[in-house]
Amino acid sequence: MKKQVNFKKMTEGQALYSLGVRAIEKNGKKGINLPIPGKPGESLFIEASDEKPGAIVASDRKQDRVKGSKKTRCSDCGCAVWISPSTQGMLKRYPDVPVICIACMMKWEQKSPPAG
Ligand SMILES: [Zn+2]
Repeated sequence: MKKQVNFKKMTEGQALYSLGVRAIEKNGKKGINLPIPGKPGESLFIEASDEKPGAIVASDRKQDRVKGSKKTRCSDCGCAVWISPSTQGMLKRYPDVPVICIACMMKWEQKSPPAG
């Protein structure tokens, strides 16, 4: 019943959009809204920032890789993840920032209270 989406033929923006990710503004801050897998109706706000991120989130689902994605490993659980071209650019800027998968990001979010 699941509709298969071919991310390889999409741009990164199109792929994110198909995953339910939306660019939004919350409390005057620009960011993206990421739906939480397995929790319909719940989503996570990730603030867009030019500052150094605490972690770079990458998808561990092979079908999520967009054109130009590179395979790497989650620095927390070690699973294979795909980093998109824009994320690769971020990684070049901040090579010491850990790359983590979505599952580990959820763990981190639950452990630490949101800042601000
Ligand atoms: Zn992980």
